[in-house]
Amino acid sequence: MTGTTEFSLIQKYFSYDFKRDDVALGIGDDCALLNPPSGKQLVMTVDTLVAGVHFPVATSAEDIGYKSLAVNLSDLAAMGAEPAWATLAITLPENDPEWLEKFSKSFQQTLHAHDVQLIGGDTTQGPLTITVQLTGFVDQGRAMRRDAAKPGDKIYLTGNLGDAALALKLLDVPDLPAPETRTVIIKKLNRPMPRVEFAQRVAEHCACAIDLSDGLIADLGHILKASHCGARVYFDRLPVSPEFRECMVHLDGFDFNRMILSGGDDYELCMVTSEKNESALFSLAESMDLLLTCIGEIDSSEALTVISSNGESMELTATGYQHFSHV
Ligand code: ADP
Ligand code: MG
Repeated sequence: MTGTTEFSLIQKYFSYDFKRDDVALGIGDDCALLNPPSGKQLVMTVDTLVAGVHFPVATSAEDIGYKSLAVNLSDLAAMGAEPAWATLAITLPENDPEWLEKFSKSFQQTLHAHDVQLIGGDTTQGPLTITVQLTGFVDQGRAMRRDAAKPGDKIYLTGNLGDAALALKLLDVPDLPAPETRTVIIKKLNRPMPRVEFAQRVAEHCACAIDLSDGLIADLGHILKASHCGARVYFDRLPVSPEFRECMVHLDGFDFNRMILSGGDDYELCMVTSEKNESALFSLAESMDLLLTCIGEIDSSEALTVISSNGESMELTATGYQHFSHV
């Protein structure tokens, strides 16, 4: 988009009031000017959501506004960083005031819930695509990284697994399961809760973390690869929501195990740390009313083994578990 259309669109929908003290110049010039805090490292991430690829085309403008920020907030959380500044590159098929109004409101609410200022962006015409770039801070050398796991460490997880993957499947079966259960599960897909505050605080006790965007097996696999070690994960310990469990009991034809092990889009935090930090982790989680589960431990095997209830290692070679091959 060029000229007045683009200018007025930015003015109308993306010039929010909220101003951070560390932003010397926000939207309106060629670039933003920022004053990074001394003693901190800048932490940056970017994620693109393409309609029909990263979210179903029928997703509401509000949910897209929320999720485009949430996935980036989750990446910063995985490093233990405090989010601060965002840019938004948006490609729109048309100038649709109703859609833009809803997207903009939801995006604004999500920004402000985390004290993040929108400092710039780009607006173009084409198939609906949203790219958010997010910058935050972390104390020098204190970021949680994928390469810091050590044999003997324990593996912890916030929240539950598999709901978002189940939600995607449920979109194809409009009348299943009961409406209340369905609403809860679909909300997990459209409104994932990035563990931003918990992550900043847990970073005091933990040097290694990743957020779960591609599924437990794939994402834990990234930690194992970067840290040159293996892990044992106990399938029975993997946390699922009461709603997920209800679906397991009542719905046929779904591969629930695959959703738990390899379903994407959960945006929970997976942490690896020494067992001596366990009580600190659990009290922190409890103080924030957050479910935390120890799901296994790191070993020196260089392989990821999932152990079933009968103590045997689970077959992870079936299609759907192909992420396993990355380990
Ligand atoms: P330029 O042509 O110099 O790159 P633009 O005309 O694209 O500048 O943008 C003008 C100003 O508006 C810049 O400050 C830019 O960061 C901001 N901007 C453009 N699109 C968006 C958007 N979708 N959200 C937030 N800021 C935007
Ligand atoms: Mg310019």
